[in-house]
Amino acid sequence: MKTVKNKEKREIKRAKELDKSEISEMKGKNQPFELDRRSVYKCVQCGTCRSVCPVFNVVGWESANTRGRMLIIKSLLEGRHPSEDVLPSLASCTTCRICAAKCPAGVNPPEVVEAARAQLVKCGITTEVQEKLRASVITSGNSFGEAKDRTHWLSETERSQLPEKSDYVYFVGCFDSYRYPEFAEKTFKVLQRFGVTLLPDEQCCASPLLRTGFREDAEKVMKRNLEQIRKVGAHTIITSCAGCYTTLKNNYPEELHVISLPEFLAEHLDELKLKKLDLTVTYHDPCHLGRHNKIYEAPRKVIQAICTLKEMKNIKENSRCCGGGGGVRIGYPDISLELARNRLEDVPECVDYIVTSCPLCVRNLRDAGGDIEVIDIVELVAMAME
Ligand code: SF4
Ligand code: SF4
Repeated sequence: MKTVKNKEKREIKRAKELDKSEISEMKGKNQPFELDRRSVYKCVQCGTCRSVCPVFNVVGWESANTRGRMLIIKSLLEGRHPSEDVLPSLASCTTCRICAAKCPAGVNPPEVVEAARAQLVKCGITTEVQEKLRASVITSGNSFGEAKDRTHWLSETERSQLPEKSDYVYFVGCFDSYRYPEFAEKTFKVLQRFGVTLLPDEQCCASPLLRTGFREDAEKVMKRNLEQIRKVGAHTIITSCAGCYTTLKNNYPEELHVISLPEFLAEHLDELKLKKLDLTVTYHDPCHLGRHNKIYEAPRKVIQAICTLKEMKNIKENSRCCGGGGGVRIGYPDISLELARNRLEDVPECVDYIVTSCPLCVRNLRDAGGDIEVIDIVELVAMAME
């Protein structure tokens, strides 16, 4: 335990040293807090978002609802000195985007929050947890600081047979590589028949860095992934993680054609020849697949090709957040798990599984401790292929 703690401390120190001089220079100079003012001033403080923010619902502080966050950001723009006092408000947004879906003025609060976090990073204002996450990605290429090879879940033979060139890359992501290798194995098995390959040295997609404001560091890992994608010559990137998906699709250059695993599966249902299972399941829409990218129908089409779908109480645009995103799971685990428990209240009765299509949602909903097993959509597909 002590060794792990010492390792974490060393990693944080190392990452901090990478730009220590830069940050101290900025802190001393009272770095200006710059944001697109229109995106902030569009907020008319009506409070519509107040009732939907899942974090506010749990903690109850005015500063932890969307309007409170917007007001804090406005005060920073208007000259409030950026300090650590604003972190509990700005670092606790899961970026779930339900506020944006409900805002009558067309404000996109999570986008504004992410931009504000980037400004705080520029001013050297971060939480220890954010620094730890950053250090892990920089030093190990993954968000867990794992030293082992990303493709440890492949057999030697499979690894040696990976095509160097392919039209399709399966972008595995940190979660499936290190926490749910069984999902990675199953996904790879399904995609292998379409000639998919893996990146030789996949790096974190950069989502944790982007969501927490470390934009410059994010650029570096994105560049390393992009170079490899171009070398492989792939025209399509397939990923089964909602966080990787939204990052690859919206933060990488537009030339990339990115497709989520549920979309790919839905497009290839005929080739997959799935058998019908006598099961009833429900589906949890991950925020970064659903509200952020409007992927609602593809996972439902796949599920309905296999078994009966019984919807949750709040679905699609109204789906409640699992609490895992935006750095909240790692920064505020108690709040995060409370959100997941609230989401479990939406599960209908008499279902065999809760299916979702994001490993972060799987983890949070599983950790919330409900009675019904939470599985990834690829596990359902694997059952139907046996
Ligand atoms: S973000 Fe939108 S919904 Fe929330 S207070 Fe501002 S204008 Fe109203
Ligand atoms: S994105 Fe979600 S958590 Fe963040 S302010 Fe909006 S509703 Fe709240």
